[in-house]
Amino acid sequence: MAVIETKNLSKQFGDFTAVDQVSIQFKSGEIHAICGENGAGKSTLMNMLYGLLQPSSGELLINGEKVRFQSPRDAVSKGIGMVHQHFKLVPSLTVYENVLLGHEICHNYLIDDNVEAQTVQDTIDRFDFDLDAKSIVGQLSVGEQQRVEIIKMLHQDVDVLIMDEPTAVLTPEQIDELLKQLIALKKQGKTIILITHKLDEVKKCADRVTVIRRGKWIATVNNSDVSKEDISTLMVGRSVREIKNDKGHECSGKVGLKLEDICFKIPSGKDVLDHVNIEVKYGEIVGIAGIEGNGQSELVNILTGIIKQTSGKFIYEGKEVIDSSPLKLREMGFALVPEDRYKEGLSKEMSVWENMIAGRYKEGYSSSKGILNKGAIRQKTMKLVKEYDIRNCNDITIKVGNLSGGNAQKIIMARELSCNPKVTVMSQPTRGVDIGAIEFIHSKILELKEANKAVLIVSSDLNEILNLSDRIYVMHKGKIAGVRKKAETSKEDLGRLMVGIDSMRSQDEQELGRDAYR
Ligand code: ADP
Ligand code: MG
Repeated sequence: MAVIETKNLSKQFGDFTAVDQVSIQFKSGEIHAICGENGAGKSTLMNMLYGLLQPSSGELLINGEKVRFQSPRDAVSKGIGMVHQHFKLVPSLTVYENVLLGHEICHNYLIDDNVEAQTVQDTIDRFDFDLDAKSIVGQLSVGEQQRVEIIKMLHQDVDVLIMDEPTAVLTPEQIDELLKQLIALKKQGKTIILITHKLDEVKKCADRVTVIRRGKWIATVNNSDVSKEDISTLMVGRSVREIKNDKGHECSGKVGLKLEDICFKIPSGKDVLDHVNIEVKYGEIVGIAGIEGNGQSELVNILTGIIKQTSGKFIYEGKEVIDSSPLKLREMGFALVPEDRYKEGLSKEMSVWENMIAGRYKEGYSSSKGILNKGAIRQKTMKLVKEYDIRNCNDITIKVGNLSGGNAQKIIMARELSCNPKVTVMSQPTRGVDIGAIEFIHSKILELKEANKAVLIVSSDLNEILNLSDRIYVMHKGKIAGVRKKAETSKEDLGRLMVGIDSMRSQDEQELGRDAYR
């Protein structure tokens, strides 16, 4: 019998159907992956299983019994737990205090700390997790904090663990660690529902895979019967290629963009960027990898003219750039895709066409007297909207604020990449964008390389970095922790650099890592 079964489960928000008559059976003791593009309805579906949302129609059965959850408390009492992407922990408290929050163990009206710590440690040991119940949560790594969230659920004796995009915040090694743990939990009889759009992870650990697209159930398949390509085809509704830079690392040798000893200090005196040296040649795609928060944002902000370095040189074609305002950089031939698309990349209040020429109105869209050539702008905008498949925008006078994040990102990419830039600096070029559109944006980025342009990409998505880059710099604590040619590195190698360890993984360790998945 299915441990959880949904029958024609639907959820409406106003007149929008986020989950549309979805029927799935989750078998006891399996790892069941739920895949779908951004906005497919995965979280909405899971929130109904966990009692955070009430279904608009349809049925939910737990061990064959019809249930109606009013809150997560009801779900937990039926053995269903969920771990969210954003942790809900109290950093100043210990692991055991977090685990027992709301379930404190009292003796004569006093909380008995020793008993509390011991019972939580027992749970940790029972599931063979690497955690100390007495550590302070705020001092733990992100991977460890996630373990605390999982233990919190296991301590309440849940049979089913729902994980919503758990790996988004983890490094490659932490991801491997988590997947191993999920496999171990399965061996102890737990059912795992894993939501992700990363297919490598699905292939590594899932027994079965359900794909949903635009709120609808598309298929449930055995993982061993399908390839990654099969799953992405089901997710997108057509076959997608993974775009790869396999042009070889040939470039003119002439350096377009150079950073020399760049430092950036925040008022407290901390060095957020510490003597950073980076070089991008024409015809080269350079990737910057790293866990978010290691200086990448500041680096991009300097390169896109939003902030000025404290010391060091920003050099373009051999000359130091003194005025690095976004307007000046664009005049010099830069395309800029900043990190915060709404703050720096777009104006939500302005229309699609206004955004399409923002910062570029001098480039043939206005007369010498500064009067905008509306005909030319309209034509260009319509062409880009079509070419970049920017959806829900037949009317180019609507405000950008009304578009989804992915579509807004496509407007920035269309504007910046269509201006024949000599140097392109982009941060998270495909964040929040669907797989189908990622394919398109990646092919546009490769076209820049073929046209002998210099391209710098900052991304926390290692697949993106590895697929596109010729060379990769890894940032850790404001420093360049290492530089690698693409052909000479791997995800694991980059992952180590991301946590500040510069050594190739030994053969033995790699063997161990593989064994865990057998
Ligand atoms: P996924 O987790 O697959 O990325 P979600 O379940 O978060 O997708 O969202 C599915 C769709 O429902 C999206 O288009 C989203 O904008 C919409 N949606 C989600 N929650 C709400 C809400 N509370 N109100 C209105 N629309 C929502
Ligand atoms: Mg989601």
